[in-house]
Amino acid sequence: MSRDAKGGSAVIRSESELREEIVSIARRMHRQGLVAATDGNVSCRTGDGGFLVTRSGLCLGEATVDDLVRLNATCQVLEGGKPTSELAVHLTVYRIRDDVRSVVHAHPVYANALTFAGVSMDELVIPEVVLTLGRIPTTEYGTPACPEGAEVIAPHIVDHDAVLLQRHGSVTVGRTATDACLKLEKLEHAAHILYLSRMLGGATPLNADELSRLAAVGKRLGMDLSPPLRGLG
Ligand SMILES: [Zn+2]
Repeated sequence: MSRDAKGGSAVIRSESELREEIVSIARRMHRQGLVAATDGNVSCRTGDGGFLVTRSGLCLGEATVDDLVRLNATCQVLEGGKPTSELAVHLTVYRIRDDVRSVVHAHPVYANALTFAGVSMDELVIPEVVLTLGRIPTTEYGTPACPEGAEVIAPHIVDHDAVLLQRHGSVTVGRTATDACLKLEKLEHAAHILYLSRMLGGATPLNADELSRLAAVGKRLGMDLSPPLRGLG
């Protein structure tokens, strides 16, 4: 069972509300520099079992509610034109994770730079990130906008809400587009900290005792602990 699934049943919202949220998040991502030009894409499940996804060639900073493509439950396009070239990534996540209701793909600068440099975010270094996102794995390289790009994420998204795509960007998931975007922001903030730590001489992972105490805090706060903390504390 995933963390989001344990958080309770999702609230089913109207399609117009979902469209408004996706547009708001798309613009926010562009405003924050988490995507550039026509990079990045956002999707969500709809109440009828289908999906809404940003269209191909869209600058997220200029997104409107008419820039979304609607798919039915069998992933056929109903309206809105051509979906993002990364549609397969989104649909792979939804196929694997019943609990996920929104997927965000971005090109965060620091997190992406770490994958180019071969620096992993899989180590347990920053307490609040360990508590919320747990380990952040990096996939094998998969050519963007190709089926292999979706294949490489499959083994990692099973039990992680934030995944780095080798030489490409990130995928974060959540109960809503806002939830998935907040995880993206946390991921990029953590990458920035790790980058600066490396410039200053390096960062050491939390030790077993520190992880155990962190798990205890998470339990006390009623948090659904990320995998490395489960069973601790
Ligand atoms: Zn991309």
